[in-house]
Amino acid sequence: MSDADAALARAREQGVRGFVVPATKLDDIASSVDIAQRNDDVWAAVGVHPHEAKDCDDAAFAEVERAAGEARVVAIGECGLDYHYMHSPRETQIAVLERHIHLAKRLDKPIIIHNRQSTSDMVDMLLGSGARGVLHSFTEDANVARLLIERGFYISFSGILTFRSADALRACAKALPHDRVLIETDTPYLAPVPFRGRDNEPAYVVKIAETLASLWGVSLDDVAAQTTANFEALFRVTLPSSLS
Ligand SMILES: [Zn+2]
Repeated sequence: MSDADAALARAREQGVRGFVVPATKLDDIASSVDIAQRNDDVWAAVGVHPHEAKDCDDAAFAEVERAAGEARVVAIGECGLDYHYMHSPRETQIAVLERHIHLAKRLDKPIIIHNRQSTSDMVDMLLGSGARGVLHSFTEDANVARLLIERGFYISFSGILTFRSADALRACAKALPHDRVLIETDTPYLAPVPFRGRDNEPAYVVKIAETLASLWGVSLDDVAAQTTANFEALFRVTLPSSLS
């Protein structure tokens, strides 16, 4: 957020063609929407992260609902459940996620889901919800992924996919249908190899694409074309021409 224009420029130089910038709390919403409205290859998502769920009262959620109608807001989130940090009580997290799911369905927009050590509740909530969207920075196994894919969800991999310790996650990514996979930054966290320890940024997403290419036995161009098509399908947008 602090230097988005420069980060976007570096990512474009690496061939990254489209971006969704999710807000995770009310304070981020104006910046996310502003970045999207100033750039024809950027879109925004608005929501409240489970860490902040305890502060998501009626007035706060009304602000999310208002922002969801702004130009270039194509998704609801980041929202979800996080029982690892448990910065908000479990019941509060569930109630706030429920509101986000209802909003996403009412507006027919995809939902961007955060899930950490909360998979059982998350699967229960999503499977019967009728919502569609993406599981961001996915770290579960292929069985969980397939359950959600069958209900219309996409699976997004962050820099974790490149970590030396992530053999199980790579096995999952290898097994998934290519037309349901996205790649993401999760800045400033989870910078991929060989940038671990630095602040993450969108230019580095190419390293995740390279990892997918080797897992799938296809070219980097094929991964780029596939994840670009998946991005357009999920968020229902058309990227500006790469020739411009
Ligand atoms: Zn997250």
